[in-house]
Amino acid sequence: MIIAIDGPAGAGKSTVARRVARELGLLFLDTGALYRAVTWSALERGIALDDALAMGALTRSLALSFDQAGRVLVDGVAGEPHIRSPKVTANVSQVAAHPAVRAALLPLQRRFAHPHGLVAEGRDMGTVVFPHAELKVFLVASVEERARRRALEVGEPEAQGRIQSEIERRDHLDATREDAPLCKAEDAVELDTDGLSQDEVVERLLHLARAARNGGALRHEASS
Ligand code: C5P
Repeated sequence: MIIAIDGPAGAGKSTVARRVARELGLLFLDTGALYRAVTWSALERGIALDDALAMGALTRSLALSFDQAGRVLVDGVAGEPHIRSPKVTANVSQVAAHPAVRAALLPLQRRFAHPHGLVAEGRDMGTVVFPHAELKVFLVASVEERARRRALEVGEPEAQGRIQSEIERRDHLDATREDAPLCKAEDAVELDTDGLSQDEVVERLLHLARAARNGGALRHEASS
């Protein structure tokens, strides 16, 4: 079974997707980590991020894989924590907008669909990478709430305003690019997590997953 989870930055996709995968015994695929890994490698090598040809060539040349814990490896080297740095976060959307970068990462992401089922999270899981996923969820929350959660997570509650601006900028770039923009697949269930605890979000996702697994075509508003 493939579960596709998409949504804007800071909606809590990774954490809940990881938990749902564990509960259901499925693989977890963090596709944002792949775009971050390419961005980190380009910055390390001094490759101009706006050079579409060079960025495509770099992406095709990298050996990207995941360790047992689902953390990305770049040519066998751990990508964490480098791929989460503010510099990578600030530049990743520019890199992810290059069609050549996306084209190079597409078959890699699809390879994870076989033979295991998986929970994949990103921006274009339901629209492009896994259009036939049994369950598609578009996870949303207000930008204020996402910034508040992220600020608490990094232990800097006073940075909420700055974090909100960064999230808005990244969402704008991701939603307005030509190739595979951030958007809700037509057949995705939208789940608004404002006011829900992480446990409640996981519960709802598990409920949807079980219904989908049982062949139930559950297409109603999950938050109702
Ligand atoms: O999910 P995360 O915040 O780690 O994603 C980092 C960036 O990678 C996103 O802002 C987006 O630009 C890009 N991305 C993407 N498509 C995906 C996953 C991530 O374009 N499927």
